[in-house]
Amino acid sequence: MLEKTYLLFFGPPGSGKGTQVDMLAKKLKLPVISTGEILRQEVERNTELGRKAKPIMAAGDLVPDKLLEAMVSQILKNKDAAKGVIFDGYPRTWKQLDFLISKFNNDNVYAFLIDVSDKEVIARLGGRRACDCGAVYHMKYNPPKNDERCDLCNKKLFIRSDDRKDVILERLKIYKKEINPLLNYWREKGKLIEINGEQSIDKVQSDIIAKLKGRSI
Ligand code: AMP
Repeated sequence: MLEKTYLLFFGPPGSGKGTQVDMLAKKLKLPVISTGEILRQEVERNTELGRKAKPIMAAGDLVPDKLLEAMVSQILKNKDAAKGVIFDGYPRTWKQLDFLISKFNNDNVYAFLIDVSDKEVIARLGGRRACDCGAVYHMKYNPPKNDERCDLCNKKLFIRSDDRKDVILERLKIYKKEINPLLNYWREKGKLIEINGEQSIDKVQSDIIAKLKGRSI
């Protein structure tokens, strides 16, 4: 069986890992599984999973592992995952890690940590504004041209409920508690690649590529 490449991306909310993952996916021609993004779509489409996940996500808590398993299994079976997958935001718990490892064979698996301080996370997320049309802005780094209105559709922008400061602090607390043991797992296996996330988007990306090249991916 052909060896697949699985890249797992870790980083606090606001670390920019979503942006990095999307750039990398285009280069490597691998699909991305962003559980947060899939769950937001489920909420938007008001599916059964979406209805269950909505209040949990709004409170900044983790959606139960069991609810995600069928979703992840299905995605791994998709044809476009034949060469591997880049995960963004999964696994987030031991149970999820166990589940995922059970799906791997003798594949290339690497974990990346996009490292960003708490102070920077709060500055980044507190400034984020979203639009119903899907566009995302940042009042400091990528401000809309016109007041707090969307450049694309002119609708009033809003703060995503999980970007409120109290929710950010809760998300950071959960993130550290859940993620540190997972990071240690990959670190002990010599498969954790740590990247300084407080650099320009392009520099973070080129650091990731350089580390992958060193491992012949
Ligand atoms: P994210 O966009 O990755 O920050 O995810 C947004 C929200 O979706 C999180 O705060 C969780 O409520 C939920 N979520 C995303 N991925 C997972 C996961 N792997 N396990 C549990 N909940 C998740």
